[in-house]
Amino acid sequence: MIPPGSTIGVFGSGQLGRMFAIEARKLGYRVHTYSPVSDTPTGHISDFEIAADYEDLGRVREFAGEVDVVTFEFENVPSKTIETAAEFVPVHPRGDVLHTTQNRLREKTFLDENGFPVAPFRHVTSLDELYQAIEDLGTPSVLKTAGFGYDGKGQAKIRSAEDCEPAFEGIGGKEAILEAFVDFEKEVSVVAARAQDGYFSHYGITENDHVNHILDISFSPGEVTSKLRDEAVMIARGIAEAFDYVGTLCVEFFVERNGGLLVNEIAPRPHNSGHLTFDASVTCQFEQQVRAVCGLPLGSTELIKPAAMANLLGDLWKKGEPDWTRVLEDPDVKLHLYGKAEARHGRKMGHITAMADSPHEAVRILAAARESLVLKTA
Ligand code: AMP
Repeated sequence: MIPPGSTIGVFGSGQLGRMFAIEARKLGYRVHTYSPVSDTPTGHISDFEIAADYEDLGRVREFAGEVDVVTFEFENVPSKTIETAAEFVPVHPRGDVLHTTQNRLREKTFLDENGFPVAPFRHVTSLDELYQAIEDLGTPSVLKTAGFGYDGKGQAKIRSAEDCEPAFEGIGGKEAILEAFVDFEKEVSVVAARAQDGYFSHYGITENDHVNHILDISFSPGEVTSKLRDEAVMIARGIAEAFDYVGTLCVEFFVERNGGLLVNEIAPRPHNSGHLTFDASVTCQFEQQVRAVCGLPLGSTELIKPAAMANLLGDLWKKGEPDWTRVLEDPDVKLHLYGKAEARHGRKMGHITAMADSPHEAVRILAAARESLVLKTA
């Protein structure tokens, strides 16, 4: 057990690390963060902020030597960095879990080989292989880079064979997977946590709406049958156990029109669709991560009330800093800003959450709050 008062090292310095650090602080831990940049969302909450390359293994060793346990908030940290840190201190989740989940080919292969349901996919390393994959899977389908992709980055939809060449060029001719397009009814996720003794806890089903491949709104509890809920939770648990996972994770699913479930992605960390737990659950996903990483017992994941979360993207800053009093006029709306200096198109700058008697009511409150911001900034 790593007791309160100890120091947790975090690789990555974005909003996930920030909310993790807030929870770590509440429990009395110290936090050091490591990423290539400074003045970061996580750095603002940390005792120390180290700005160095992830590949600078000398600095990584130094960092690991100064903390009691290490975790990460960003899955594109090179797994070599994590493995180097692991020579000095415990690291949760492990580097090999990161290695698998940071690459779509490895992730999908892991899921498939362990019997978890995924959309049909093919490995693509050349245009010829892409044409062959289109023959096998048909169209429409989605070409995705194997590495370093998130929020729809490095993705192209292929509607016919003519799209192959521009799509492959569009993703830079990199190693990729071609995935059958899923005509889903909805997207849902299960945020869960697994402790060092194998204890598993989860937040049930969250329903997620994406706009331009980026999460827009999540609400919980999601509207699914109890059978589907149990099945999704069982899959999330199975994945956590197959990895012998320690920490918070998220499994994202497509719900097919026939009620089938397909795993889209695993996030080996707290997830955007779990942000509503920050306000609406007895123990939020970030505190759960602190507890799991430090070997403490996990807390209750009970949702206090139905809740929703809406992301605030950089686009809202087009005319300068939005007038936050507009969203705060509704006393049920909670505002979270990540302290990012520069607002860019599509960049996650903050989120708002609300609790209500139903998840739909919570979504309605947030939509109105965000709309008031748009009207003001349009
Ligand atoms: P990803 O980065 O793979 O999670 O993709 C981001 C979003 O793109 C997903 O949440 C879906 O909305 C959409 N998407 C990704 N893959 C597929 C697919 N095979 N079929 C349909 N939509 C997809």
